[in-house]
Amino acid sequence: MAEHLVSNQVTFNKPKVELHVHLDGAIRPETILDVAKKRGLVLPTDTVQGLLRLCTMSRPATLTEFLEKFKHYMHVIAGDREAIQRIAYEFVETKAREGVLYVEVRYSPHLLANNKVNPIPWNQKEGDLTPDEVVDLVNQGLSEGEKKFKIKARSILCCMRDRPEWSMEVVELCKKYRNRGVVAIDLAGDESLNCKTCPEHKKAFEEAERSGVHRTVHAGEVGPPAVVKEAVEVLKAERIGHGYHAIDDQALYERLLEKNMHFEVCPISSKFTGACVPDFTKHPLIRFKKDEANYSLNTDDPFIFNSTLDTDYSTAKTYMGFTEDEFKRLNINAAKSSFLPEKDKKDLLNRLRDAYGMNDKASF
Ligand SMILES: [Zn+2]
Repeated sequence: MAEHLVSNQVTFNKPKVELHVHLDGAIRPETILDVAKKRGLVLPTDTVQGLLRLCTMSRPATLTEFLEKFKHYMHVIAGDREAIQRIAYEFVETKAREGVLYVEVRYSPHLLANNKVNPIPWNQKEGDLTPDEVVDLVNQGLSEGEKKFKIKARSILCCMRDRPEWSMEVVELCKKYRNRGVVAIDLAGDESLNCKTCPEHKKAFEEAERSGVHRTVHAGEVGPPAVVKEAVEVLKAERIGHGYHAIDDQALYERLLEKNMHFEVCPISSKFTGACVPDFTKHPLIRFKKDEANYSLNTDDPFIFNSTLDTDYSTAKTYMGFTEDEFKRLNINAAKSSFLPEKDKKDLLNRLRDAYGMNDKASF
């Protein structure tokens, strides 16, 4: 796999683990243009540069503005079997190139479907692609990618906060495809919609816990510490997506540190969505580092932010004082907090420790 490893110019030129990245926010612009052409769909632009101008964020904005970006291209990929399998396959190739050894990629199966989904997303006409088949197609794409690019890829299925009626089906899909690469359930979207407003999410996460499906929740990204609290106490989240605003509640933050809760941190994303102050030298991640919290570094939606995993690493190095040792520590923590079965997790940790020259295996 040497040719897939990163070159010397990257910030942390060693195998990495990524736990928080959205499949539909990590599509290649070339692929969107190509699929649109094949399907006879007209986009406002037919160049990569034009598409990047349309879909990427160049300044900090709000989460709402961020979500608007998906409307420019999701209708191109959704409902198209070949395209869905292709984006999953290409995703693995991209991650292998970035030096990622293990990745957990997430998506909402409903947002890529056009049948047995209500409402049908992205103004698509009704077709014959169900959320269930979407999961099957993504599994196939990821698995072909794994074989070809020699890295490991697993998936997480997302419930959407504003679509509580989909949540029970999401957990059932997690159970159905648990032996074909689906490792967890997630809750994504507008954090103001809590479980009191939408009890279906709570029900789905209870079913996940009962069935041994792992759980992560987007919380404390732009929302207050109360959302993080609910994620941990009500939804029994084992990891927190982002979690920056947990530090606004000292008692909660200390409890999370004690529990060794894993934070899936996405620095570049947090700037563009307005989740954190744009000045990286004041980012909550600096506090996480100082407190030796358990966290990973992730891209979230690299297409929308026109970024790569290295953009996040180089930002951490340049503005937050990250060292090679801290990069090793956080990747070991990411592997330990991954949703792999114990044996696979041990293998991954061994591979990382070998690559990091940690002969004393007890050192982390
Ligand atoms: Zn996310």
